[in-house]
Amino acid sequence: MVLGLPSFVSATPAGIADLLDYYRIPTRGKECVIIGRSNIVGKPLANLLSRKGPGGDCTVTLCHSHTQDLAKVCRRADILVAALGRPHFLKANMVKEGAVVIDVGITRIEDKSTKSGFRLAGDVDFDEVAPRCSYITPVPGGVGPMTRISLLKNTLQAALKRNQ
Ligand code: NAD
Repeated sequence: MVLGLPSFVSATPAGIADLLDYYRIPTRGKECVIIGRSNIVGKPLANLLSRKGPGGDCTVTLCHSHTQDLAKVCRRADILVAALGRPHFLKANMVKEGAVVIDVGITRIEDKSTKSGFRLAGDVDFDEVAPRCSYITPVPGGVGPMTRISLLKNTLQAALKRNQ
């Protein structure tokens, strides 16, 4: 993937790339800020979005727990990806008007009003942030299902490769 050769792409970044493509969200020349530098999300996504060609050509900033003045960095993003695993971390004052916000985070939080006793929360304070965005993914129902589809695609690709 790093060399731009045909390869299996980490499922979550591949799903995010498909979402951007499906909604025809331009990436070329855009500022992209990713919060979280994990091997399965942040790092491969930074690679995908900054590579040359369609779906890439972003200027990517990869943030983590030592990033200074995170809110200021986030505010310059045209595409802002939250993948840090802290429920409702991203607030409206961290988001530029009209930004595309992608919420990767999935955390179980206690909720006695549900049958299971918990609910899923994203890293974005959706109610606060959504009015500022041109696009935003919900949790649950956004990046999660795209990850599963990408995993199935990778599995199919692996099976076809084995049979060739
Ligand atoms: P991780 O848990 O391995 O690492 C968290 C990253 O966030 C680290 O790079 C850390 O430096 C950064 N971070 C933590 N606190 C921070 C802060 N206050 N400011 C800035 N950066 C901070 O990362 P992961 O495995 O990518 O998981 C992140 C979240 O994404 C979790 O909630 C996980 O459940 C979720 N996730 C969802 C999907 C999906 O399909 N939707 C897939 C993978 C992971």
